[in-house]
Amino acid sequence: MKVDNHQNFPSPLVGEGEDGGNRKVKSPPPLSSPIKGEDSRFVLLAKDRETRARVGQIHTAHGTIHTPAFMPVGTQATVKTLAPRDLEEIGAEIILSNAYHLYIRPGIDIIKRAGGLHRFMGWAKPILTDSGGYQVFSLARLRKITDEGVTFNSHFDGREIFLTPEEVMKAQSDLGSDIAMIFDECPPHDATYTQVNEAVHRTIDWAKRAKRVSENQRQLIFGIIQGGKFIDLRKISLEETVGIGFDGYALGGVSVGEPKPEMELVVREIVPIMPIEKPRYLMGVGTPLDLFWAIESGVDLFDCVNPTRYARNGTAFTRTGKVVVRNADYSEDLAPVDEHCNCDTCRNFSRSYLRHLLNSEEILGHRLLTYHNVYFFISLVKEIRNSIREGRFAQFKEEYLSQYDESQR
Ligand SMILES: [Zn+2]
Repeated sequence: MKVDNHQNFPSPLVGEGEDGGNRKVKSPPPLSSPIKGEDSRFVLLAKDRETRARVGQIHTAHGTIHTPAFMPVGTQATVKTLAPRDLEEIGAEIILSNAYHLYIRPGIDIIKRAGGLHRFMGWAKPILTDSGGYQVFSLARLRKITDEGVTFNSHFDGREIFLTPEEVMKAQSDLGSDIAMIFDECPPHDATYTQVNEAVHRTIDWAKRAKRVSENQRQLIFGIIQGGKFIDLRKISLEETVGIGFDGYALGGVSVGEPKPEMELVVREIVPIMPIEKPRYLMGVGTPLDLFWAIESGVDLFDCVNPTRYARNGTAFTRTGKVVVRNADYSEDLAPVDEHCNCDTCRNFSRSYLRHLLNSEEILGHRLLTYHNVYFFISLVKEIRNSIREGRFAQFKEEYLSQYDESQR
């Protein structure tokens, strides 16, 4: 396992980014048919001088993802209320969907017959599918976990389902996602050391089986590091999973209800020792402030339901903190949701109008607020990315945090 420290990192290659640089540092592989096994599927372009923050590109069969990147969550093959053209306009380069949910409904077969998930949902850019390990262990009524697989009752219609790591990989291959996640056992945050230890070793065994059956040359496969709050188990999980060899690595079993300092400690301890030359994905995190310390630890990919979920509850993320647009305070406020924001919602509509829509239970209210929130997260990560490339991440972070108040207003 390689260790990420500042000394052995190649010189930052500032100047080559999504906005076009003067220097051609490394030609990306042809996007239409990336070749599995080529290291150039992930290219590091720049690194912050003081922290582990880094900028790179992941090349997939459906295009390039500039990292750090935020993935809007489209669990049911839709980012709630947004059409693919909205997501393109917002600047999303990759979205996340979920093999477990699609397996339950509408079923993998119909999506395969439609030509894969991209065609089925009308989204031509990269998709990462989560394996559903987390959902099986949190949503479904579990019947039995064995080394072979998991028997559970669907949370949707109660039918009994038996899933194996091999079957989950096949489902994701049929979906045709650009990045597939191995099937993992995700124990609850209050699980004992013994329980977590067992889950770690089962996940390692399942990862080996997933690797053996992964044949889709157009799909990257990411391993998942488990181990809960136990740093020694996290390290075992990391070492063993890296030994199997994947295209990228995710930190799973975080943001599952544990106290935030506990999560932050795991990220700060483990992310820096994840392989430097592979994408690192922090699953299910987080808030705008989480993005800063996680990127600082060396994370490249994020997903979180916060932008969409908060929008449905009538709350907007803004440059100065969260704003509960639904509150009576905003009934006569004709200012945009976020005066620093350049999204379609903020350019055209007021807080007062949005509050009116939300209070009248008009669908457009959810849609406009979701549009803004997703735009907010994507734009924030893009600003962070640019600040790293331009060597002013620390300054950007300080300015940002001095304005941002995470407490609910
Ligand atoms: Zn906006």
